[in-house]
Amino acid sequence: MTDSCDYDVLIIGGGLVGASLACALGGQKIRIGVIEAFPFGSITQPSYDDRSVALAFGARRIFEAIGLWQRLAANATPIRKIHISDRGHFGVTRLDASTTGYEALGYVIENRHLGAVFSEAIPAYSNIEMICPAQLQAIEITDTDARAIIKHNETARTVTARLIVGADGGQSAVRNCAGIEATSRDYDQTAIIANVTPADFHHNIAYERFTEHGPLALLPMSERRCSLVWTLPREDSASVLGLDDETFLARLQHRFGFRLGKFEKTGKRYAYPLTLVCAQNHVKPRLVLIGNAAHTLHPVAGQGFNLGLRDVAAMAQVLVEAVERGNDPGALDVLNRYQQWRSRDQSSVTAFTDGIVHVFSNSSLPLVIARDIGLVTMDVIPPLKHALLRRTMGLAGKLPRLARGIGL
Ligand SMILES: Cc1cc2nc3c(=O)[nH]c(=O)nc-3n(C[C@H](O)[C@H](O)[C@H](O)COP(=O)(O)OP(=O)(O)OC[C@H]3O[C@@H](n4cnc5c(N)ncnc54)[C@H](O)[C@@H]3O)c2cc1C
Repeated sequence: MTDSCDYDVLIIGGGLVGASLACALGGQKIRIGVIEAFPFGSITQPSYDDRSVALAFGARRIFEAIGLWQRLAANATPIRKIHISDRGHFGVTRLDASTTGYEALGYVIENRHLGAVFSEAIPAYSNIEMICPAQLQAIEITDTDARAIIKHNETARTVTARLIVGADGGQSAVRNCAGIEATSRDYDQTAIIANVTPADFHHNIAYERFTEHGPLALLPMSERRCSLVWTLPREDSASVLGLDDETFLARLQHRFGFRLGKFEKTGKRYAYPLTLVCAQNHVKPRLVLIGNAAHTLHPVAGQGFNLGLRDVAAMAQVLVEAVERGNDPGALDVLNRYQQWRSRDQSSVTAFTDGIVHVFSNSSLPLVIARDIGLVTMDVIPPLKHALLRRTMGLAGKLPRLARGIGL
């Protein structure tokens, strides 16, 4: 690799996906720069806010192969069962880790903890430099390099690399600067998140309950808490957000029922307006989009970061193989190899989550009956359940080395 560029790979965005890619490439013979708008390790960084993420079992394997799982596991709550139901109707599906041979279907981790582990891990890699707080302003692509014009410490500066990776989230400046079109559809729904404590222990069961107003998920956490992701029509969300705690918990109780006993306590509530964003291209010469910059999904099935992490695993493998062969990591044929590999998983997960939102937010009787038959059929027909389990656990399809738990 020549030294004519500042970096081989410049990652724009040090959120969940960008930081995971940096760590996946940590220790490789690839010079990495990461540009992040917020101060490194700061609690204000939006990717590491008060949400929790449900990591599929396949994500655990990726973090194991990267060498971060030990540190993450200390604060990860295993999901041993998933209970999916349709409020007011007969449909139900149950998934159980004990039928899979794995210790858990997935794990719940607070985003802040992920951020803390990344900010501890990254400085230990001599091939990674963090440039932050800095914001991308423009991009120029030439035959030999990609240039990011950034604002760093109030000064404009140009950083060059063989490849720019856009990991800067749903409103991606990289995508805009590169002129990549994206289709965007507002779900007209808002997710309200909070940590709630029910009277009964969750027994490591994750609940996904479809209600006539939108899906509601309760994920098991430490200290008997559950992480709530409650999707509501946009027009109702402000009033639910503004309720006092007691009325909020009573409203939640009414929607969820008493499977976990009485809801006793709630933490602070936050709102996330939900939009589906799909970039029309993910690669251009010397540029690639990953994570939410490429595909921002509805959180209904907890797939967004898991999908982004599989992007990371494939991207890291393709880049390391290219560099080992002496190829330019920004060359279009290298990036096309990545995109051809990832497109099937990306489009099927996008269609799956979008399909669930539409099928379960429709109250027409024939559709209600059909979806409930679907849930029950899934529950009792082993091959269908097996297929759902593999998707939920992030183990379906042609997996990159890291997703098989093997180092690069
Ligand atoms: C309510 C909710 C619940 C969710 N639950 C789950 C779940 O259970 N499981 C799951 O897999 N997924 C879940 N997701 C999805 C998950 O949060 C996203 O997939 C994930 O955050 C995507 O990470 P990212 O790094 O691509 O983008 P982001 O998290 O948006 O990070 C982008 C980063 O880029 C930085 N940045 C932005 N612009 C610039 C710029 N111009 N210059 C420099 N830096 C910039 C930002 O500061 C940020 O750090 C959930 C999402 C929501 C809304």
